[in-house]
Amino acid sequence: MSTQTEPKLVTQIDFARAGQITPQMKEVAEREHRDPEYIRERVADGRIAIPANIVHIKKGMRAFGVGEGLSTKVNVNLGISGDKADAAEEWKKVKIAEDFGADAIMDLSNSGKTRQFRQQLIDETPLMVGTVPMYDAIDYMEKPLVKLTKDDLFEVVRAHAEDGVDFMTIHCGINKSVTKTFKETGRLMNIVSRGGSLLFGWMEVTGNENPFYEFYDELLEICHEYDVTISLGDSCRPGCLYDSNDATETAEMIELGKLCKRAWAAGVQVMVEGPGHMALDEIAANMKLQKRLCHNAPFYVLGPLVTDIGVGYDHITAAIGGAISASSGADFLCYVTPAEHLCLPNAQDVLDGLMATKIAAHAADIAKKVPHARDMDDKMGQARRKLDWDAMWKCALDPVTGKKRYEESPAATEGTCTMCGKMCAVRTVNKIFEGTTIDLGMED
Ligand code: SF4
Repeated sequence: MSTQTEPKLVTQIDFARAGQITPQMKEVAEREHRDPEYIRERVADGRIAIPANIVHIKKGMRAFGVGEGLSTKVNVNLGISGDKADAAEEWKKVKIAEDFGADAIMDLSNSGKTRQFRQQLIDETPLMVGTVPMYDAIDYMEKPLVKLTKDDLFEVVRAHAEDGVDFMTIHCGINKSVTKTFKETGRLMNIVSRGGSLLFGWMEVTGNENPFYEFYDELLEICHEYDVTISLGDSCRPGCLYDSNDATETAEMIELGKLCKRAWAAGVQVMVEGPGHMALDEIAANMKLQKRLCHNAPFYVLGPLVTDIGVGYDHITAAIGGAISASSGADFLCYVTPAEHLCLPNAQDVLDGLMATKIAAHAADIAKKVPHARDMDDKMGQARRKLDWDAMWKCALDPVTGKKRYEESPAATEGTCTMCGKMCAVRTVNKIFEGTTIDLGMED
């Protein structure tokens, strides 16, 4: 008789490797039109992550799968900012994220009562919740950056895990070897990741190794206890086209690949974060390189923004890159709003950014032949063919804006819109096929 205790199964990857299909795997399978075994196999080998903290599951969250063969997920960033703290506006953004089809909300609060906002968000939203504990560390510990200790930083991570955060961006890959490459090879925009720059500053001033890298095993223990998915932050993502796919970005990606394997070995789910800014013709290769170096871990991408000069319209520059990145292998898109590089987005910016990113993700899913991805497009074609406006709203990614614009500009000819009025091509051809005589010049 064996005296060894069986290891406790806690995380989705633990259960998957033990051959067990969890309720979350079933839920993902149902929504994605996949067999539960398809999901289990890929969770077991890390190609799919189901970020679902055991605390958030108890509060009734929905399960979302991120990774191979699944629909591309979309994240909305929000949170209380020190320079423009307005909790009511942030709650408006939460409502928009939920109503308009985001899959995740990242709470990037970095000022004031961050824990209260985070806990209420986890209590109330069924969407995946992500955070960046590094943003929160200074206010949470009430210490300046360079006075923060490794224990302080890990205390913040533990607090977020206890609160029920499903995935945390942690910049574990920016170690001394990567910063050496960065300093030796140089960059036009240096480091543009907020968390990455804080850690770089901390490492430079204290002379210490990145604690999330040095004590990675300890970090994994906390994540395992609550089934927090680590989203390995890309501190060295390119902040301009000039820096994309350079030595620094690649050096960090190699480290992230090694950290993926260590996370999986510890029974922790993992995703990897990616660029940034990147010329359109470089994106597909970057996605393939990430999947190769990071052993097919789900790839969570910000854009990439395909030009640096779209200021004021960066939801568009990012959506163009998002469509290419997702159709080339990225699994999860972080939205970008028109306020990118300019200011904290307002609620309208959030809607505009979310819709641009949803369109990019959906376009990619059609190209990737994700099961049933095109169903609504085909229904929309049928509704348009019949000039059935109510059916069109049911198919639209944003039915509210479409209906509002249509109703604000009533057409004189029934069934048409003011774009072509009585010369509506759809109506004309329908009438021809119905055998109705038309005389556009004489009709009412
Ligand atoms: S009026 Fe023109 S734009 Fe409007 S539904 Fe007809 S064909 Fe389409």
